[in-house]
Amino acid sequence: MKLTLTEKDLKYIWHPCSQMKDYEELPPIVVDHAKGVYLYDTDGNRYIDVISSWWCNLLGHCNERINNAVKAQLDKLEHVIFANFSHSPAIDLCEKLSKIVPEGLSKFFFTDNGSTAIEAAMKMSFQYHYQTGNPQKKKFMALSDAYHGETLGALSVGGVDLYSELYKPILLDVIRIESPDCYRCPYQNQRETCQADCFEHAEKAFARHADETCAILIEPILQMAAGMKIYSPVYLKKLREFCTRYNVHLIADEIATGYGRTGKMFACDHAGISPDIICLSKGLTGGYMPMAIAAVTNQIYDAFYADYSEGKAFMHSHTYCGNPLACAAALEVLNIFEDENMIDKAKGKAVYFNELIKQALSDSRWVGDIRQTGLINAIELVENKADKKPFDSRHRYGYQIYKKALKKGVVLRPLGDVLYFNPPLIIEKDDMDFAVRVCAESIEEVLGK
Ligand SMILES: *Cc1c(COP(=O)(O)O)cnc(C)c1O
Repeated sequence: MKLTLTEKDLKYIWHPCSQMKDYEELPPIVVDHAKGVYLYDTDGNRYIDVISSWWCNLLGHCNERINNAVKAQLDKLEHVIFANFSHSPAIDLCEKLSKIVPEGLSKFFFTDNGSTAIEAAMKMSFQYHYQTGNPQKKKFMALSDAYHGETLGALSVGGVDLYSELYKPILLDVIRIESPDCYRCPYQNQRETCQADCFEHAEKAFARHADETCAILIEPILQMAAGMKIYSPVYLKKLREFCTRYNVHLIADEIATGYGRTGKMFACDHAGISPDIICLSKGLTGGYMPMAIAAVTNQIYDAFYADYSEGKAFMHSHTYCGNPLACAAALEVLNIFEDENMIDKAKGKAVYFNELIKQALSDSRWVGDIRQTGLINAIELVENKADKKPFDSRHRYGYQIYKKALKKGVVLRPLGDVLYFNPPLIIEKDDMDFAVRVCAESIEEVLGK
C-alpha cells in the first residue's frame, strides 16, 4: 500500500523540540509552498506564519528579491573553504554590516547557526582573557530564563529548565543571575519608568565573581524563549557599565532580537550601548539559510593577532562558515532594508498591531499581560488575573489553543501559556486583523469566555 507523505514523515523523521507521541493526534503539516506570510500545505490549506517560522523569516517566504539574489549566486559559486579563501558576497555583507551594528564592533566571524555563534563567542572571550594575562577568568554569567541555543556550551548558559535541566550533569558550571521579571515585578515598578532595581542581583554577582568571569551573555531587552519577557533598557545600560568596570565581556545574543524585530535595528540600540561581542543569526539571511555571525571589537581581535608560533590564533571553524549562498541572501536582506525603509515601515505597523491586540484581548479574564516591542506581541494567559496566577502547565492550554488556531489557518505556536505574534515585517493589516480574530476565538473555544 502506498503511504501518504504524512505517514512517510512519521515513519522516517524525528522532529525537533517535539514529543513525537503528540503527532498521533496532530500529525506534521506537510508544506508544499509558501509566499509572503502564507504557508500552503499539500491539501491546499493556507496558514498565516505569524511566528516567522521559528522567528527567522523576516521579509516573507519566497521573497522575490532574495530568491533572485540566491539564484544568481547559485550559478557563480555555491560554497568554498573560508580559511584563506573569500568571496564578494561575504566581503560586501560585512562591509554593510559594519555600518549598522552597534559602534565599535568591527570584525565579523562566521558560523553556521545561532548556537555555534554563541559557542564561538564564549571561546573567544575565554581565549581573549587567557591571552591578555587573566587566565583565571574562565566562567560565564547568564540570566535565569535565558535562551542561547542547544549545543552544550550554549545550553549551559541557557536558563530555561525545559531545555537544560535534564542535561545539568554534562553542562558547564555557570554563575546564574536572577533575570528581570516586569510582569511580576518584585519591586512593584513599571517597566516604562523603572530604574532596574532588579540589577542588584547582577551587582552582587559581579562583586563576588567578576575576577573569575570572562563574559556575561544576555538577550538584550527581550528574553524570547522564556515567554517573550521584555525588560527595561536601563538594565542594559547598567550592565554595560559593570562589564567595563570589571573587565567582563558583554556578549549580546541578538540572534532573535536583531533585524528590526524590537522596532530598532538591534535591541541594544534601545539602550544605546555596544556589546563586546554581538551574535546574529535567524533574520540575518531573511530566514533562508542557516548562517550566523559573531562580531567583535578590534580590542578582542587584536589579542589574537600575532606570529603563528605564539599560538594565539582562534582555531575554530565550521565547514559552512561564510557560505556564499547564505551571504548572498543576507546581503540582499540589507539592500531591502535600505531600499524599502523597513524599520520605519514596521514601526507604523507595530502601533496598529498592538492596538488591535489590546482591543481584542485585554478584557478577557484569561489575559494577564499583553507585552509588546516592535511587531512582537505576547499574550500571557493566567488562571487568575488579580494575583497573576499561572495555569497548571499540565493542562497545556497554550498547546490546545495552538491546535484550534491551526485549524483556522494561523500558526500560533505558543511558549507554554504565552501566545505570541512575531510575524515577518512585511505583514499587512488584513492579515493582522485575521490572525488576532483567530487568536481571540481560539482562546475562547478552549477556556470559555
Ligand atoms: C534561536 C536562538 C538561538 C540558537 O540559534 P540556532 O540557530 O537555533 O542554533 C540562540 N539564542 C537565541 C536568543 C535564539 O533565539
